[in-house]
Amino acid sequence: MDMTRPGRIRSIAIVGGGTAGWMSAVLLGHALRGSDCRITVVESADIGIVGVGEATIPPILDFLDLVGIDREMFVRETRATIKLGIRFQDWKAIGEHYWHPFGSFGCVIDRRPFHHHLQRAAEWGEARGVTDFSLGAALAQAGRFVPPDPRAGLARAGLRHALHFDASLVARTLRTVAGRRGIERLERTVVDVVRTADGHVDELLFSEGEPLAADLFIDCSGFRGLLIEGVMAAGYEDWTHWLPCDRAVAGPTALTGETQLYTLSQALGSGWRWRIPLQHRVGNGYVYSSRHLEDQPALDALARAVGGDFLAEPRLLRFTTGRRRAFWKGNVVALGLASGFLEPLESTSIHLMTSGLYKLLDHFPDRSFDPANIAAYNAALIEEYETIRDFILAHYCLSERRDTPFWRDVTSQPLPDSLRARIDLYRASGRCPFRQGDLFADVNWYYVLHGLGLRPRRPDPLTELSDPRAVRDVFDQLARDVQDGVAAGR
Ligand SMILES: Cc1cc2nc3c(=O)[nH]c(=O)nc-3n(C[C@H](O)[C@H](O)[C@H](O)COP(=O)(O)OP(=O)(O)OC[C@H]3O[C@@H](n4cnc5c(N)ncnc54)[C@H](O)[C@@H]3O)c2cc1C
Repeated sequence: MDMTRPGRIRSIAIVGGGTAGWMSAVLLGHALRGSDCRITVVESADIGIVGVGEATIPPILDFLDLVGIDREMFVRETRATIKLGIRFQDWKAIGEHYWHPFGSFGCVIDRRPFHHHLQRAAEWGEARGVTDFSLGAALAQAGRFVPPDPRAGLARAGLRHALHFDASLVARTLRTVAGRRGIERLERTVVDVVRTADGHVDELLFSEGEPLAADLFIDCSGFRGLLIEGVMAAGYEDWTHWLPCDRAVAGPTALTGETQLYTLSQALGSGWRWRIPLQHRVGNGYVYSSRHLEDQPALDALARAVGGDFLAEPRLLRFTTGRRRAFWKGNVVALGLASGFLEPLESTSIHLMTSGLYKLLDHFPDRSFDPANIAAYNAALIEEYETIRDFILAHYCLSERRDTPFWRDVTSQPLPDSLRARIDLYRASGRCPFRQGDLFADVNWYYVLHGLGLRPRRPDPLTELSDPRAVRDVFDQLARDVQDGVAAGR
């Protein structure tokens, strides 16, 4: 391949057949449909997929719609259930909880976001909160679901949900879709590569069979980062000093009677555990810091917390929180676990994959692989990774817990300047800066910071100009909308 001569990308090799690999295949196949670009997914029969990753956020549904995957088929095939948000149990203090629901929260009043009015209303004794004005939280609490309906009041108009699914079935379902759409699949193990004079990857070499040449390589090989690290030596920025959790034990249990339409995240002594109900089982895991807890006690703690037998042998997973220094280097783009890892506290990994893919389309290269284009892609994704890191870190650093060495450590460590500035601003004014396109808007920050007990010294001064009676009327109407939504739910 002559990399000095610009030209259209005619072939893409995706290394890895996990969630990242098949999502990449489906999206790129969709975006490049009608072109002569050949897309091949290479997956190893000897190296399995990580097979965890069961909670998502609402943009997953936009992804399915965009690539033309029928939602009902996907839900059926992946044994998915509805997720209305996350319940954070014991994070602020043992026995307390807060919600991070999906969907709208109240409404804008006099151009000021709802949560600013709620902060002001605390001055006149308003006691209602998130579950009164967020239909997502109210439904999750009640164990009910109702479809969004723009004709049934603001709360139902703004309702959004995501999915819990069986991770091992997601790659399989996407693979079937991709196969029907002409994506090629090679079951091979990559053992080496051939590089061009300028250091780009030219061909993949396999343990057996012919080499595979391509113009663009997508590295979805999981934690090992076969191409991005093994070949391109992108480097890794380790964030363990901020987010010390580096292991998880995960095991399924049988479904118990109650309906739970949310992810439970419960803070434990040296990390936190998830509980994710699917159609056929419950996914459980304990994410913990190996500096503070050994593996067997972690497994014992998970077993105690789930209160039942595991249906399969629990698995131990090791990870290093952080990100590649470059997600795209030369003609290699890393997605999924190959690009970095952030613990699944806010279910962001699969979202980061799709976000990386959308950005790849926004920066889609030709064969010149212009460095300015690559730098712009990397900068955009680094910003997104760092904002999500700060969001996750906020759950830990603002906790009031001091009951174990883990909690004493995570609440006393120095913070990234970006998070420190955000917390300072919130403390001063209740405001949370965010940019267009940020995954977490100011209301998401509100849920977490408010849930952890942070209160602004002075609410937004403009909320004082609104007529308190009119504001109270809006509050009452919204609360009724939410109650009606819950009553209509099943
Ligand atoms: C404990 C834990 C909990 C998580 N929970 C969530 C969650 O709730 N929500 C969420 O969004 N995300 C979650 N994640 C992240 C999520 O699991 C991953 O983002 C997702 O599974 C994607 O993995 P992947 O496709 O990048 O890698 P993998 O699943 O590891 O797939 C790697 C692929 O590369 C192939 N491969 C590797 N080496 C070679 C080779 N030499 N030759 C050929 N093929 C090769 C393998 O065969 C495999 O197909 C979690 C992760 C962990 C660790």
